[in-house]
Amino acid sequence: MNIHEYQAKQLFEKFGVASPKGIVASTAEEAGKAAREIGGPGLVVKAQVHAGGRGKGTFKNGFKGGVHVVDTPEQAEEIAGQMLGQTLVTHQTGPEGKLVSKVLIAKAVDITKEYYFAILFDRVSSNHAIIASTEGGMNIEEVAEKTPEKITKEFINPALGLQPYQCRKVAASLGLQGPLANQAVKLFSALWNLYLKADCSLVEINPLAITTDGQVVALDAKFNFDDNALYRQKDVTAMRDTTEEDPREVAASEFGLNYIGLDGNIACLVNGAGLAMSTMDIIKFHGGEPANFLDVGGGATKEQVTAAFKIILGDPKVEGILVNIFGGIMDCDIIANGIIAAAKEVSLTIPLVVRLEGNNVEAGKATLAASGLKITSASDLTDAAQKIVAAVKAA
Ligand code: ADP
Ligand code: MG
Repeated sequence: MNIHEYQAKQLFEKFGVASPKGIVASTAEEAGKAAREIGGPGLVVKAQVHAGGRGKGTFKNGFKGGVHVVDTPEQAEEIAGQMLGQTLVTHQTGPEGKLVSKVLIAKAVDITKEYYFAILFDRVSSNHAIIASTEGGMNIEEVAEKTPEKITKEFINPALGLQPYQCRKVAASLGLQGPLANQAVKLFSALWNLYLKADCSLVEINPLAITTDGQVVALDAKFNFDDNALYRQKDVTAMRDTTEEDPREVAASEFGLNYIGLDGNIACLVNGAGLAMSTMDIIKFHGGEPANFLDVGGGATKEQVTAAFKIILGDPKVEGILVNIFGGIMDCDIIANGIIAAAKEVSLTIPLVVRLEGNNVEAGKATLAASGLKITSASDLTDAAQKIVAAVKAA
């Protein structure tokens, strides 16, 4: 799960991470009011979308930049009016862009230098890690590729937590000394506290800035939260903005389904993430293009299978469905009945290939055959992939 920058600022305030004061607005008038409350001179108007690269982005109507530094509240109101209701395209949104329905009005600071600072979960080492760089405000992937020596990595032992000496080490690696180093150390430990308490998997500040009056402040924020911990993060869950997410993925999550929309035309309905990955691979191997990743989980119910069919069929690109179920704990016959009920309920018209394997598979196959529906049975994964690719090509 992600949140907006204005919500990140609320978390910063709660945990004592230094960041310029900001107020969110949904209309130009609100933006003007917020700007007068914060007070000029020096304000920044920032489009609130779940994507980075806003500063260098362009709106579909030609207006340039999702981040504008202005002098007066009047100018802030004017710029907010130009952004609201418009679609911003950045290198992270894809060509379709994202609709801006909120802007953040914040105090602008005079920047002397920008840094990159992030805390994230590093799966390779099973540690948390700090990634920091003197090359702030830039694309960190590019820095990692071209000038890897400019990136510092500091691992945080999950049992010990972030130690003060590690904060000082990272501050020193960024060339910070004296009062600036002290402020940075304070900010790093506050951020670590926030990262841990809010069950984050990523907190990225790009840029972390030094101002002309000697302050160390977070000017941008990207958060990722561990979805498996959301049940105990009521405040964070309340920040979820489903309008920023793929509606099919939102519907799927309501039914406990793991769904990711893709560009192809062959929908997959599979139990188990590993099997879902290999099903997508084998569809591609046989010349097809998967329309989605969909894992219904190990104990799929009839309701979940029906919901899955509806989500799949809500995608106009889908021209065929491949169901690939390995009945381990689940009984294949129960799954077969679920598929039939779902196919009838949604009055399926496109080709459907079903591969069942495992517990009570013969009864499951017999049930499918006796259903009177146009369902093609497949004996194994290769057979299933070949059959659905052929059926979609012939249709
Ligand atoms: P994005 O990463 O989506 O482009 P940022 O929040 O990083 O958005 O803003 C882009 C740039 O705008 C920053 O690198 C910084 O130079 C400038 N900026 C952002 N917030 C402020 C602020 N409060 N005061 C002054 N400049 C800012
Ligand atoms: Mg940024």
